[in-house]
Amino acid sequence: MAQDEDLRVLVELKKKPVPAISVFGDTDGKAVAKLLWSYLGGWEVRLITPEDEDLLRHEAENCALLFIVINTPDDPKVLISRILSSDSDVVADVVAITRTNDPELRLKIQAQGFDNIIGWDQLETEEFRHLFYHKLRKGIVRLNARIKEKEYKSFQAYLSAAADAFIVFDQDRKLFFVSRLFREAYPKSAEILIRGVPVQRAFEAMAEEMGINKDDPQYKTIKEFWLTLAGQMELELDAGHNVRMTAVAMPDGQGTIVSMTDISDYKTQERYLAEKQSALESALESEQEASNLQKQFISMVSHEFRTPLAIIDGNAQMLQRRQNEMKPEDVMKRTKTIRSAVSRLVHMMEAVLSSNMLKTGRLDVFPEPMNLAQMIQELCDEQADLAKDHQFETKLDQLPQLLRLDRKIMTLVITNLLSNAVKYSQQDPKIAIEAKKEGKNIIICVTDNGVGIPSEELPQVFNRFYRASTAGTIPGTGLGLSLARELVQLHGGAIDVISEVGKGSIFRVILPYTT
Ligand code: ADP
Repeated sequence: MAQDEDLRVLVELKKKPVPAISVFGDTDGKAVAKLLWSYLGGWEVRLITPEDEDLLRHEAENCALLFIVINTPDDPKVLISRILSSDSDVVADVVAITRTNDPELRLKIQAQGFDNIIGWDQLETEEFRHLFYHKLRKGIVRLNARIKEKEYKSFQAYLSAAADAFIVFDQDRKLFFVSRLFREAYPKSAEILIRGVPVQRAFEAMAEEMGINKDDPQYKTIKEFWLTLAGQMELELDAGHNVRMTAVAMPDGQGTIVSMTDISDYKTQERYLAEKQSALESALESEQEASNLQKQFISMVSHEFRTPLAIIDGNAQMLQRRQNEMKPEDVMKRTKTIRSAVSRLVHMMEAVLSSNMLKTGRLDVFPEPMNLAQMIQELCDEQADLAKDHQFETKLDQLPQLLRLDRKIMTLVITNLLSNAVKYSQQDPKIAIEAKKEGKNIIICVTDNGVGIPSEELPQVFNRFYRASTAGTIPGTGLGLSLARELVQLHGGAIDVISEVGKGSIFRVILPYTT
């Protein structure tokens, strides 16, 4: 629509002319006009007396009532009455006023296209006055209706040009206009979405067409939106179809425009971004987990290093202080202890340095064929070397010769369980290690007769930094078991514990059996 046309529509919408009464051919001192004027007190109307036919025709559209003074059927003014009464824009009744009393002539005049004919002598009667008011009232009603209709048509023409999906309600919340695109969105409701339908009825039809019934969680939102005709709502329809409805009030309470936008693409983008974000978050989470594991690993390893270092230092001090008084076998015993501690350190250092953990922050599992029984035996011997007062009893004959396990992981887990068994059983030196194949699993049990763990604390001993109340003053960090559990889980296995305070504990590692 061109811009000047736009303007015309808007101007037309605003212009509301005052209804007029037109008296034409009132040449006799404007007597008719003067008389009618005297009847018009209190009416908001204009009284006009056009000089010629052109002016009359120009004003006729805005008239509520038209009078033409005419005396004979062949008066040329009858032509104008015909033109006026066949003009669809003229809503006023066309009334002839005549001086003739001849009924035949009157009939002839009226037949020329007049709605009524009034005799000059009737003008001052009470009956005419009533007829005049009646016709005027009707004329004004028709005029207003025509103006409204014209406004609607212009508005409709204006709105139809807009390439948007929207629906307009008037100030009485009745449907005023539905745009083509909106109508296309609800083809089945076309019969209901017509001018004058109350918003409630329109909403029910649309909800039904969308397949949203009263049980649908979206129904309440839609109902609230349509019944308040305010704000915004988003709907998820079938097959990932999303729409957004926005209600905007028109100025001066003239009504409300509800626009509808297809936001399916936007929603798809939004979902894509949300997925990306959650992928990033979980990547970050596993990154953090890896870094936590790395920290635990380093803490545990440094803790495990301290014990042999203390042994080395203690024995070295002894040799330094008492080198002259010591018997050769004592010296031998001390140096042997030192060497065993050194070998344990070297062993652990190798495990640590060759582990991927320090390089990548991730501990990967590299299962390889190995002799688990032999490994457990060696680790027990090492521990026995370090903890002279303890005895290790092993039962490993039920184990298959070769198992596919990660050597480093197994070293770390078993060392940890053995050193805990020693540490928490200073009063009773017997430690039993049993490993066997049971069904599809390999089970390793480390049993001690030490301080035990209260049953209510058992679920927590595998948590980071958790130390049971029975640990007392025994040194420790609370990290070993949590790392052991992580490592066993990495290997597809599990770890648990049975314990009784004062009697001892059994730590059990279960691993899937693979050859
Ligand atoms: P740490 O021994 O350095 O404290 P761990 O993670 O190895 O840390 O063990 C966590 C806690 O579990 C210990 O503090 C201790 O209370 C308890 N615990 C572990 N092993 C035993 C055991 N064999 N006997 C009794 N308590 C144990």
